Amino acid sequence: MATAANPAPEARYVYRFGGGVSDGGKGDKNLLGGKGANLAEMASIGLPVPPGFTISTAMCARYYDEGEAFPESLRAEVADGLAHIEAVTGKRFGDAADPLLVSVRSGARVSMPGMMDTVLNLGLNDATVEGLAAVSSDARFAWDSYRRFIQMYADVVLELDHGAFEEALEIAKEDNGYYLDTDLTADDLKALVATYKGLVEEQWGKPFPQDVHDQLWGAVGAVFGSWQSERAKVYRRLNDIPGDWGTAVNVQAMVFGNMGETSATGVAFTRDPSKGDRAYYGEFLINAQGEDVVAGIRTPQYLTLKAREEAGAKPASMEEAMPAVYAELAAVFDRLEDHYRDMQDIEFTVQQGKLWMLQTRSGKRTAKAALKIAVDMAGEGLITRDEAVLRVDPAALDQLLHPTLDPDATRDVLTKGLPASPGAASGKVVFDADTAEKRAAAGEAVILVRTETSPEDIHGMHAAKGILTARGGMTSHAAVVARGMGRPCVSGAGTLSIDAKARVMRVGAREVREGDTLTIDGTTGEVMIGSVATVQPELSGDFGTLMAWADVARRLKVRTNAETPADCRTAREFGAEGIGLCRTEHMFFEASRITAVRQMILATDEKGRRAALEKLLPEQRKDFTEIFEVMAGLPVTIRLLDPPLHEFLPHEEAEFADVAAATGVSVDQLKRRASELHEFNPMLGHRGCRLGVTYPEIYEVQARAIFEAALDVADKSGEAPIPEVMIPLVATKRELDLMKTVVDKAAEAVFAERGHALDYLVGTMIELPRAALRAGEIAESAEFFSFGTNDLTQTTLGVSRDDASRFLTSYVEQGIYAKDPFVSIDVDGVGELVKLAAERGRAARAGLKLGICGEHGGDPASIAFCEDVRLDYVSASPYRVPIARLAAAQAALKAR
Ligand code: PEP
Ligand code: MG
Repeated sequence: MATAANPAPEARYVYRFGGGVSDGGKGDKNLLGGKGANLAEMASIGLPVPPGFTISTAMCARYYDEGEAFPESLRAEVADGLAHIEAVTGKRFGDAADPLLVSVRSGARVSMPGMMDTVLNLGLNDATVEGLAAVSSDARFAWDSYRRFIQMYADVVLELDHGAFEEALEIAKEDNGYYLDTDLTADDLKALVATYKGLVEEQWGKPFPQDVHDQLWGAVGAVFGSWQSERAKVYRRLNDIPGDWGTAVNVQAMVFGNMGETSATGVAFTRDPSKGDRAYYGEFLINAQGEDVVAGIRTPQYLTLKAREEAGAKPASMEEAMPAVYAELAAVFDRLEDHYRDMQDIEFTVQQGKLWMLQTRSGKRTAKAALKIAVDMAGEGLITRDEAVLRVDPAALDQLLHPTLDPDATRDVLTKGLPASPGAASGKVVFDADTAEKRAAAGEAVILVRTETSPEDIHGMHAAKGILTARGGMTSHAAVVARGMGRPCVSGAGTLSIDAKARVMRVGAREVREGDTLTIDGTTGEVMIGSVATVQPELSGDFGTLMAWADVARRLKVRTNAETPADCRTAREFGAEGIGLCRTEHMFFEASRITAVRQMILATDEKGRRAALEKLLPEQRKDFTEIFEVMAGLPVTIRLLDPPLHEFLPHEEAEFADVAAATGVSVDQLKRRASELHEFNPMLGHRGCRLGVTYPEIYEVQARAIFEAALDVADKSGEAPIPEVMIPLVATKRELDLMKTVVDKAAEAVFAERGHALDYLVGTMIELPRAALRAGEIAESAEFFSFGTNDLTQTTLGVSRDDASRFLTSYVEQGIYAKDPFVSIDVDGVGELVKLAAERGRAARAGLKLGICGEHGGDPASIAFCEDVRLDYVSASPYRVPIARLAAAQAALKAR
């Protein structure tokens, strides 16, 4: 036990690196931050790292716990750290004759804009600047370093007005008729330092600190202080970074890239971060400090001769200008890749011919580069195939599967909505589905613009190159259907007002009329006036290779949500292993069928309905036949009619007239019937199996169409399809039992007529909380469950999936839900129901097949959840099938 006489040893906060020392060893990012951990690690493998020390992230927490003060013990530890740097460099901090200068940088676990970044040249004051001038024999360099230091310190530590310093610099140049900073002489810079010190005193009320230790503690405090800055808090909130992680502080001996023509500074990637090629990639500047490379005043030079030649640039590459140091740097690149087994993003400095490494981290890359680098590295034996699979972000594959806007094209952004379905498209604006279809048939590219879409718009959505809606969230009809079709879609563009009658849409004062050209980017949600050039996706060999490795690693099967033969074909090409959801209602909106469907709905008795169903049967059979043919040998889950009836009701006079002509019932009578069918809350109304319970003949005919089609295909091809008939929106076992009897009877009848049978399953969607809770008894009748997490989210949260976008963004911003629960499954709520239903269902029926067919089936985080609860498959829209395959593989590998 700790006592006054025997105090508990103080925790350690300072970790040294460089000069053969590496207290942080293999680099613990949580403790040392990303930058500190990698500096320690580079030092530990013998790379040239300027000596320094890291104050750990644990100190950050303590600093705040103790009212933004440092414990006494830290002073001694920092003194030790400084002594280490002094010993390695042979210079002393604050020494007027030959001063040690240091840099102070923040470094959290992940790099985090919004925090104090860097102070360079710390340790300069009115006395040490003279010493630096003397030892470097370069007064200009010394005074330039001092003025840079004051400017940075004033900006990031004292948080004074940055503009005043920039202005003073500009005036100094103008007064002397200079163009470049480098034109300023030692005397000019000396005068500028005096001006800067005056500015500090004026704004801060105190003179610029001359005590180098005060300078250091000021900078360390500013780093910790910046962790709780508003900017940092906002960044953390937007990026799910916990507030208790804290930041580390790195104090390191300065090295100078601005000590003449044998000095330089640069940034590099070990491979091309844009294409992924195995080639060193980067820029450098001779006689410059790091900030000059990013400032963009001087144009940096290429690292390699090859890159310079390819770009047709004149100034010598580093390979040519500094061949010896370049060779050393290239060896370091290889060493770093070998060590970290990943592409690295590096900062380096050359001081008078000596190379120093200032930073390394895993480099950011495009999706294309990520694929190539992962596949190449596995080929080089640097990583395993499983690791390659884990290296590529599944969501990034979207970039590769759809046309994207040419990044170099200019764009006139009209408004922004939700990025509902990825890809970019340009076309002429149309405001209704029929016009979309007509103009598309005439060979025009069109963008369908609607306030919101409904199943009646399907043909127009199919015909359009892209879809734009003013209302509706990420699981609105437009979003779901567009993703399914692979059409780019921007939904919920709230600033858009559409006057479909007048055929015009407006955003503020800007107007777009029917026939005007518009471009939408479903990857970013941007809507642009005119046509913006796009680039086509290139599914290179690397894509196929990585997908094959993913397939070896994954346990979850991946099916698709599709209802047209074309979509089924696309999905199969993308590797779908069956259909998880074929929504039959979408088939009912085709022009040739809608009148019969309306006739069926408006009929007042069974006889009337059967007459209409008679007409629909051959059409449905044809749909299923085509789908079974495309999906030969794979399971096909077909869901019986689900949507609220109002979606089918006629609205226009002409539509009523069509139905009247088909049925011989008067328009007035039909209208009366339609108003009887009106519902206040159709999503919770007469839909799903409730349709089948009240009008069993609808499900009977659909089931008949399925079995007849299946037998037709089996007879023709010899390969029997595996139909899985799915009942929607079940809440009770009794509902399922009734509907199962209808389906079984239809099967029996068809098999008797045809003289032979085939295997099929009858199962249910679990998309209501009651069904999840009663899954045990429901599983006694159901041969499979498919979680309809769109409706399950809607009914569990009590949030309308079609209206949620109005407030959900604000909910996510305020952290009420971590992500849009219609995009990524609400694991704690909806997920709990899924888990419970899976357990209860399996307990009641061993081997119960479990899948998910809500939109979450294509979301990587939700797929990881599906792996956790051991579902058998996920089902995603065709263009998301590759994403789901990769995400399923990663989930399986992480679970090992
Ligand atoms: C669901 O509710 O999750 C589902 C897949 O069905 P739908 O989206 O057609 O309601
Ligand atoms: Mg549903």
